Amino acid sequence: MSFKDFISKINYLDSSIKTCTLCDLHKTRNLSVPGSGTGFSGLMMVGEGPGFNEDKEGLPFVGRAGKLLDKLLSEISITRKDIFITNIVKCRPPNNRDPLPNELEFCSPYLEKQIKIFNPRVIVTLGRFSLSYFLPNKTISSVRGQQIELDGRIIYPVYHPAAGLRNSKFSEILRKDLHLIPSLLVSSLENKKC
Ligand code: SF4
Repeated sequence: MSFKDFISKINYLDSSIKTCTLCDLHKTRNLSVPGSGTGFSGLMMVGEGPGFNEDKEGLPFVGRAGKLLDKLLSEISITRKDIFITNIVKCRPPNNRDPLPNELEFCSPYLEKQIKIFNPRVIVTLGRFSLSYFLPNKTISSVRGQQIELDGRIIYPVYHPAAGLRNSKFSEILRKDLHLIPSLLVSSLENKKC
């Protein structure tokens, strides 16, 4: 895909998400949150859904959990613009409840299209909900920090940064897991060359 095609597909998808009324979450959202970043590192991060701050700003992970994520990423010299970061659902579920099955059904094609366009080598799932979208039969405690191959990509489950804010033990585990991302990206690149 040429760079021009890449930009035009992303812009088209972003505007579809911003004006989407496919599920009832559009009735209570302030702004939908398509995602942000270039994804040029080959890394995509996927959370559950926008929260209070994200809904106000139209950007993913801008609250306290996002600040923690930025800090941990800076320790491995990765910035937001290097990755693509998004959520399973693009509009905030009221009171931050879990997305409902029909909301997931309507919204997940957007994520599928984003994966197709950005073509990440590594997808980091942030938290249990995102993990269960990619690997429905796994629990976060049993697979966090493990690389799992799926459809030619590496799925790398980690705890959600919000869990790190609630408990310093989770924050340390998250730090340890995120510190392995650079070597994951390098090895995924080497595998691609073979
Ligand atoms: S959550 Fe997804 S499907 Fe529902 S209105 Fe928002 S963008 Fe559309």
